[in-house]
Amino acid sequence: MSIKSRIRTIPHYPKQGIMFRDITTLLKDAVGLRMMVHELVNRYTGQKIDKVAGIESRGFILGAPLAYALGVGFVPIRKKGKLPAETVGHDYELEYGVDRIEIHTDAITPGEKVLLVDDLIATGGTAEAAVILLRKLGGEIVECAFAIDLPDIGGAKRLEALGVSVFSLTTFEGH
Ligand code: AMP
Repeated sequence: MSIKSRIRTIPHYPKQGIMFRDITTLLKDAVGLRMMVHELVNRYTGQKIDKVAGIESRGFILGAPLAYALGVGFVPIRKKGKLPAETVGHDYELEYGVDRIEIHTDAITPGEKVLLVDDLIATGGTAEAAVILLRKLGGEIVECAFAIDLPDIGGAKRLEALGVSVFSLTTFEGH
């Protein structure tokens, strides 16, 4: 059984027309969880990486064990108002309205090489905002890694247009 076969799809969640790719079925499976983390560890072992940055909240689930296994620190990128110390933020467009993500200003030292992680890339809006934030702090993005890419929505291409390399463990067709 593969990583992909352990991901559950919930049609029309959280709204009509969305195929929600639910990783909880992958995470609760001991072999699935290990496969997911190991594939990423194998890819990045030996590469020069100083920090793993994870996007709230499912990016934390992948990012923390990956950082631990690589022997580097983990940095959370969070929704507005959640981080307690001084932050820098970036607003980005959603389908309806605007959202904001933030990072502690001292999370990254200029010149550090950062691996950005989230569970899924769809439009790429969230990851693009995270790349902008990390660059504001002087971080160099090694790669953006996702468990799932939805290539038909075009998020990976959007990140590549920023000069960022993108990797995903699996892909799903459609939306
Ligand atoms: P985006 O900014 O459009 O790339 O959306 C990425 C964020 O939204 C990720 O943090 C995902 O957790 C979540 N997301 C977007 N679309 C889906 C989907 N079809 N299934 C599960 N999560 C999704």
